[in-house]
Amino acid sequence: MHYTGIIYRPPFEADFLLLQVTVGCSHNKCSFCYMYHDRPFSVCPIEQVAEDIEEASRTVPNVKRVFLEHGDAFVLSAERLEKIADLIHEKLPKVETISMYASILNIRNKTDEELLRLKECGINELDIGVESGFDTALTMMNKGYTNEESVTQLLRLKKAGMDFSLNVILGCAGADLWKENAEATADMLNSVQPHLLFIGTLHADKGCQLYYDMQNGIFKECTYGQLLDEQELLIRKLELNDTIYFGSHPSNVVPMEGYLPLHKEEMLDVIQKTRERLHDRLNTYPLRAGEGSILDRK
Ligand code: SF4
Repeated sequence: MHYTGIIYRPPFEADFLLLQVTVGCSHNKCSFCYMYHDRPFSVCPIEQVAEDIEEASRTVPNVKRVFLEHGDAFVLSAERLEKIADLIHEKLPKVETISMYASILNIRNKTDEELLRLKECGINELDIGVESGFDTALTMMNKGYTNEESVTQLLRLKKAGMDFSLNVILGCAGADLWKENAEATADMLNSVQPHLLFIGTLHADKGCQLYYDMQNGIFKECTYGQLLDEQELLIRKLELNDTIYFGSHPSNVVPMEGYLPLHKEEMLDVIQKTRERLHDRLNTYPLRAGEGSILDRK
């Protein structure tokens, strides 16, 4: 298999085939992200993709799901994605779902008719880093879209019959606006009803713009207490009908998983217990290592 650069994937795609069809991210400008800063965006040659599919047909012939790499593979034209899907189904007949990272901008660039065709060829359960429903936070993170646009595009996916997972970042509006961020993000999630909600917490590794904004005091990060308050408010306001809550990322003050609405009260209880346990540190900041993992949570 040909792989270029570090291959990131959502944790729930760990057991499936990772097939690289692009290199880097076509946006590559989010203030908290430097995952693909080491190389410009490019499209993998179709011959290379076909070779990798051929190889996979020998090594993992029974695979049921394929995750297309890299940062926003859904940026590819509908024609290109259909071509890749055809090659996959031809050589890997047991594949049921073809998933990938997608951005709101990638959806905007496709017609309703194209989205329907992509769903028909097995493309589904896109993983979208929507991050927030709060316009101020979206601007600060340089996401390149407004909340209104993101709701519009996500509802277009829904209309085409596609499920999606949404990534949301706690703390992304900073210490002064955590409440507004939680409320606006809950409203956005309630409007679009994602199949899965992936929760992470803002962290800035050296190299990204946000790291320097934090160092220079331009961006004020949330304390332990504010992160707990934001997570609690978000969960309280959520009115989801049937969503997997995937929040075990090590950057979270309260890592937990469950289903909403089923486990809502249990989750709120865990947050309250964490608040009691950390009562003497609520005004301090989590001590973080790589990928934002918290070192002093205990
Ligand atoms: S967060 Fe996603 S869209 Fe933004 S730069 Fe990173 S990979 Fe690209």
